[in-house]
Amino acid sequence: MTKSARARSPRGSASTRAPIQRVDTLIVGAGAAGLSAALWLRDFGLDALLIEESPRPGGQLHEIHAPIPNYLATHGWDGARLAGAALSDARLAGLSILVGARVTRISARGRWIDREEDDAGGEARLHARALVLATGLRRRSLGVPGEAELTGRGVSHSANRDRERFAERPVVVVGGGTAAVEDALLCAEVGSEVTLLHRSGTFRARADFLERARAHPAIRIVQNAVVTGVEGSDAVEGVTYRARRGRAESRVACSGVFVRIGWEPRTELVRDQLRCDRAGYLRVGASGVTSAPWVFAAGDVCAPNCPSIANAVGQGAAVAWEIARRLGRVRG
Ligand SMILES: Cc1cc2nc3c(=O)[nH]c(=O)nc-3n(C[C@H](O)[C@H](O)[C@H](O)COP(=O)(O)OP(=O)(O)OC[C@H]3O[C@@H](n4cnc5c(N)ncnc54)[C@H](O)[C@@H]3O)c2cc1C
Repeated sequence: MTKSARARSPRGSASTRAPIQRVDTLIVGAGAAGLSAALWLRDFGLDALLIEESPRPGGQLHEIHAPIPNYLATHGWDGARLAGAALSDARLAGLSILVGARVTRISARGRWIDREEDDAGGEARLHARALVLATGLRRRSLGVPGEAELTGRGVSHSANRDRERFAERPVVVVGGGTAAVEDALLCAEVGSEVTLLHRSGTFRARADFLERARAHPAIRIVQNAVVTGVEGSDAVEGVTYRARRGRAESRVACSGVFVRIGWEPRTELVRDQLRCDRAGYLRVGASGVTSAPWVFAAGDVCAPNCPSIANAVGQGAAVAWEIARRLGRVRG
């Protein structure tokens, strides 16, 4: 395998060799699933190149701000610590990771990808014998005016991380799942007056959380409320919404907005090429095989029923075993 001119170690140093045209295995996404697949491939003596759009590998791990209660041997670490440890493993194993490189096109049949050049703004095509899609999930956004503009200036996705910033000031939480209701409770705990806006008439949240939220004097719940905008110039000042079957707009003044309306799989580049379920998750068979030969998937992008670190790590390993088996590196 020729190595990339931009193939970076996780430390970010760049080599000066010729650009890659072809690799054994390309892994799109360096979250838990992609990193695990690459480690196992390396263990089988196979080369893999991880391509990651973020400047730091680890994916959603960087969003876990509370101690992880359910992954073996992490002793209450938060996600950043686990990502750091995973990265140090990747470094020791000498994995090749291209960071800050967004994949913009994927051909499942041709087994190539185009990626943005991080500095030049052009694109480079990479061919591979096997493709592993480990692109995970992205947070759903409201898609209303003001949301993107005020992200980081009052619009947040995590009360665990940001609630103290809005302590004792009014906030809005948007959503009807467990994460939204939990965020409402967390904000109320630090003295915020909370308005919980939910677009449906029924909640999907855990019953015990919902009960606590309903009973909490600082939490006002508005159902069938469709958010229409986030207001503010330099920082969030309010949220507008209307009733699901009405036109009249209401406004609630607030300093913070927590958008907790769920996640969606990052399959937009392959949805018309590979079998997906109705929500867009890749459908995989045993060992992560997709509907295209030599194209595999691992982690949250194909695990609507079990989005977890353990599953992502396990599926990454299973995919690597399958590739190694097909390449005659392992029997059975
Ligand atoms: C707040 C929070 C708390 C959680 N708590 C727990 C917990 O307690 N226990 C637990 O087990 N799990 C928890 N999880 C879930 C867990 O973090 C995920 O299931 C797991 O990290 C998923 O890993 P993944 O590799 O499948 O996907 P991701 O982590 O989403 O990684 C996908 C990677 O692909 C990259 N990518 C996507 N598209 C492209 C592209 N076009 N080009 C280049 N790169 C691309 C992304 O940048 C990302 O780095 C939590 C998640 C969150 C957000």
